[in-house]
Order: sequence, then structure tokens, then C-alpha cells
Amino acid sequence: MNTVPNSIVVLGASLAGLSAVRALREKGYTGRLVVAGSETSLPYDRPPLSKEFLTGDVTDEDLLLMNSDDDTLDVEWRMNSTATGLIRSPDGLHRVTFDDGSHLDADAVVVATGARARTLPGHFGLAGVHTLRSVDDARALRESLSRAQNLVIVGAGFIGAEVASSAAGMSLQVTVVEASPTPLAGPLGIELGAICAGQHAVHGVRLLTGAVVDALLGDDAVEAVRLSDGTVLPADVVVVGIGAVPNVEWAGGSELMIDDGFLTDSSCRTNLPGVYAIGDCARTFDEAHQVHHRSEHWSNAVTQAATVADTIMATPSGPAAIPYFWSHQYGKMLQFAGTRHSTDEVRFVDGDPGTGTFVATYDRDGDTVGVFAMNNPRLFTRYKKQLARSRA
Ligand SMILES: Cc1cc2nc3c(=O)[nH]c(=O)nc-3n(C[C@H](O)[C@H](O)[C@H](O)COP(=O)(O)OP(=O)(O)OC[C@H]3O[C@@H](n4cnc5c(N)ncnc54)[C@H](O)[C@@H]3O)c2cc1C
Repeated sequence: MNTVPNSIVVLGASLAGLSAVRALREKGYTGRLVVAGSETSLPYDRPPLSKEFLTGDVTDEDLLLMNSDDDTLDVEWRMNSTATGLIRSPDGLHRVTFDDGSHLDADAVVVATGARARTLPGHFGLAGVHTLRSVDDARALRESLSRAQNLVIVGAGFIGAEVASSAAGMSLQVTVVEASPTPLAGPLGIELGAICAGQHAVHGVRLLTGAVVDALLGDDAVEAVRLSDGTVLPADVVVVGIGAVPNVEWAGGSELMIDDGFLTDSSCRTNLPGVYAIGDCARTFDEAHQVHHRSEHWSNAVTQAATVADTIMATPSGPAAIPYFWSHQYGKMLQFAGTRHSTDEVRFVDGDPGTGTFVATYDRDGDTVGVFAMNNPRLFTRYKKQLARSRA
């Protein structure tokens, strides 16, 4: 029998953490809720950091996730508090310890500690070398870009492509260096990945594929990027966009099962009763594909927050949401929904990839299992709804 906990500590005060407390209150949770997060600012939105925030089109205030509806959440916010461990307290509750030596005891813990940017090994300390995860990172990068002539971006995934797109309008020479032959082939497949990557050239950004970084050159500040084939690219700013790593190390001494994220079942339960994990830090069991999967996308954090609230409150969950993510590059909205296998057949169902406005589906055994759209949100939404209906 499920017993609703009297107190819940949420670790991570960002999108997943805030969405969890919103969902819990919405479902009638009346107990004590504490949210502890290692950043100093209250929850803010990360997607604009590589887009409108970088170009100066949105302000710090626009990033804030909370609005007046959240005034009634009755949450204790503990900002600037980094969890350092999770153990059993003497009276059988979960005890979270923090970097300032304090601790919190609670009946349940929702872990939403997200991910951090992966770094290039051995290149710490050179001025002008940036990763992009937090608002502080974005401010520092914006400042560097305002004084730069040559920007080299390492990695042509979503973050790299978005930074390239934002910088393309800033009178800079922009070069993107990508180790794989086709950027975005992982999430979108080779055909659609290549079409998205084609946008770089259209907007004057140089893309080097199959190119591996050998060294960042410079004394105090970066001056160039050397590739493994000996090519030297001048750079006064370098952005390293080579993926993200889940923030799990703080719980290394706990009994939580960790393998590229906190392992959970499809209801966001970890192996420790009363401890849950959601968002970018969680590797959740996907019932449809019978595998654990970690998703680093905005809508996944929100969906899992609703799921964990249902699990804690023992309220029935609706059908599993269709996986969805978007990106915004070169003035175009890129959207994907559903699932993708490398063997799926890509079918263009509207528009023309050459014009940068089109919709394509991914078909498997005669069924549409995914949809991708560039610059056609209306038709995309129609296909996404169809996917949801076919799943229900
Ligand atoms: C630049 C950028 C652009 C993006 N653009 C898109 C996009 O266009 N579309 C899309 O779908 N998704 C996008 N995303 C991804 C999306 O923002 C993430 O999926 C989302 O932020 C995940 O939310 P989260 O709460 O799980 O993790 P996070 O947002 O990473 O938050 C985790 C929080 O936990 C805190 N924390 C970490 N360790 C501890 C600890 N030990 N104790 C306490 N607190 C801790 C962190 O400081 C952080 O505040 C983007 C991400 C970035 C960085």
C-alpha cells in the first residue's frame, strides 16, 4: 500500500525540480516540500541560453521559470546548497547532507540534479574556452563573443549548432568542428542530420566533419585550435559542445544504483524505496523498448515530474507521453517527436528540404513512429497528435 510521505526533499532547483513541486501540489500534496539547489538563482530556463539570451534578445528576468501562480506553492527554497550525500537517518528517514555541513531529513527524496557540460580533457584554464550549461556560462560566453573575431565550436550537436546559429549574426568567422561524418545523425538519422547540418553553410558558417581536436593552443588565452590532421584554426573564443554528463557523483556513497544516471523504473522509482529520480540525471526504464534511457530534453523533465508526482501520490498516470524535443537554428524551428531506429524509412510528407521548410516521418513496418519538421510547427503538431493517438 502506498503511503503519502509527510515530507519531501527535492534536490535540484531547476526545470525538473520546480515541475515536480508544481505537480505534487496540483495533485493535492499538502506535506512539507523543500527544494535544495546548488545554484544561487531560483529556477530558470536553459534553452534560451544558446539562443536568444546569447544574442541579447532576452534578459535574465525573461529566463525565470517561476510566475505569480507559484506564490502559493508553499515551498522552502534552499539555494546555494549542494547535496553531498544520501544516507539513512537514525530514525529511518532519508538524510541528505549538504556541502555546508548541514542536513535535511525527509520521508521521500526526488533527485533532479540534472547534468553538466562535458569538457575536453586537459584544457582547463585557457581564457576564451567556454562550455554552456548555466546562465553564468552564457553571460561569460556572451562577453567573450562581443570582443571576438574567430569562434571555433567543438561539436555540431544541438548546443554547438545553436551557438553557431546565434553567433552567425554577430560578424564573426564561425567554424564548427565535428568528429563524426554527419552531425545530429544520432538523434535524427543520417539523412535528416545532413539536411540540418547543411544550414551552417547556407548561413556562412564553416563546418568541418570527421575533424578531431588535437590541442587548444595559447598561453593564457586560447589563440587557435589544432586538429589531428595538423590543421590550425585561429580562435579567440572556443565553445566546447560535446554533450553532457549526469550529476550523480554527489550520491556515490549512497546505495543508489547509478549507471550513466540514476537508474529508475518507468515510474521514476530508484532502487531505494522513497527515493525517485527525474530529468537529465535519470536513466529511466522505457517500457515500450524494454531499455533504460536517459533523455536530456526539456519536455522529458516536465513529463517525468508529472510521473513522479503520480507515483508519490498513487494517482493514476495517463498514457506515456510521446518523446519530444525542439531546437531553434538559423531562424528555423526544428522539432522531433516519437522514436527513431536507424532502419526506419524517412519519408518527406510536406515541403522541400532544399527550402528549409519541410516535414518528414520515420516509418517502421508500415507504421509512422516519428516525425521531424523544420519550420512547420503546425503540420508537425498534427503528426505528433496522430502519434499520440496511435499509441493510446
Ligand atoms: C544551453 C542549453 C540549451 C538547451 N536547449 C534545449 C532545447 O532547445 N530543447 C530542449 O528540448 N532542451 C534543451 N535543453 C535541455 C533542457 O534545458 C534540459 O533538458 C533541462 O534543463 C533539464 O532539467 P533538469 O532540471 O533535469 O536539469 P538541470 O536543468 O541541469 O538542473 C539541475 C539542477 O540541479 C543542480 N544540482 C546539481 N547537482 C546538485 C547537487 N548535488 N545538489 C543540489 N543541486 C544540484 C544544478 O545546479 C541545476 O540547477 C537545453 C539545455 C541547455 C544547457
